[in-house]
Amino acid sequence: MDARTMLRRYLEQRRELGESELVLDSLHVDDVMRLLGAAGRPTLPPHRPSLRELAEEISSEEVQDWRTSLRQAGVNVDAIVTAAKPAAPTEPFESIEPTAPPETSSDMAFKKGIVVAAEEAELIPSAIDKLDSLDEIAKKVNKCTRCPLYETATQGVPGEGNAKAKLVCVGEAPGAKEDETGRPFVGQAGQLLTKILAAIDLTREQVFICNVLKHRPPGNRNPRPEEVAACSPYLIRQLELIKPKVIVAFGTFAAQTLLNSKTPIGQLRGLVHQYHGIPLVVTYHPAALLRNPGWKRPTWEDVKLARRILDSSARS
Ligand code: SF4
Repeated sequence: MDARTMLRRYLEQRRELGESELVLDSLHVDDVMRLLGAAGRPTLPPHRPSLRELAEEISSEEVQDWRTSLRQAGVNVDAIVTAAKPAAPTEPFESIEPTAPPETSSDMAFKKGIVVAAEEAELIPSAIDKLDSLDEIAKKVNKCTRCPLYETATQGVPGEGNAKAKLVCVGEAPGAKEDETGRPFVGQAGQLLTKILAAIDLTREQVFICNVLKHRPPGNRNPRPEEVAACSPYLIRQLELIKPKVIVAFGTFAAQTLLNSKTPIGQLRGLVHQYHGIPLVVTYHPAALLRNPGWKRPTWEDVKLARRILDSSARS
């Protein structure tokens, strides 16, 4: 598949997910589609690869950057970019930017998002509700048979970090490396997460890092609703014990699952949602940033928002 076809298919996927912006270059998806000669919204072919399959194709070594892909597709990207946006640092997590200075309370009027509250009487089954430490939860996860994922996974990945963390990072589910090591967010995406945290003056040791699902879905397939329902009590109990000031949901799946919403991630970003009484902000998954470096800039904005919530809670 040539670069133009791969790029076009990827953009089609983004558009189906409801996104209208190609953030790095300040271009709209439809504009880029037109540049690639695909005017209008084409009829869907009978079989369409999943976003995950497509992203894996796009992440091949020769296509690492949007600009490279666009250039290979014959688009004069440099002229477009120059006209479209002012100069700005391109790698916020390479050259760590200073944390924003503390803001006054009048600056803290966060845009409100979705509220997910504990209304169900039996939200946390009693066996999980009685677990009173993160270690106990980890042990329980490693013996869990509440959904079939334990059968195909190597081990559970309950999460790790500070039991009194002010910020909790929540991703989708363990991948191959996580399944192998039993640790969340390891490998390249994990290294980027470490940089993202450092950009807001936090270390991995200061936060708690986990996923919605504690066992790896086979072949990294998308988690199923019944698996999420079975596993969510562990996450809720972890949050109850940690009592963080803010949750950061990394990636579409984590965000939509926690917020019980199908709203595209582009529209969930920038808002302060509530998850069982805890402020929750949404941003892109580090693995997605590796495929699309243009999302580093909005991710930087999102984690700064999380940082402001932390600073605000420290003053109140
Ligand atoms: S994914 Fe969650 S619910 Fe399923 S077996 Fe693992 S710990 Fe249990």
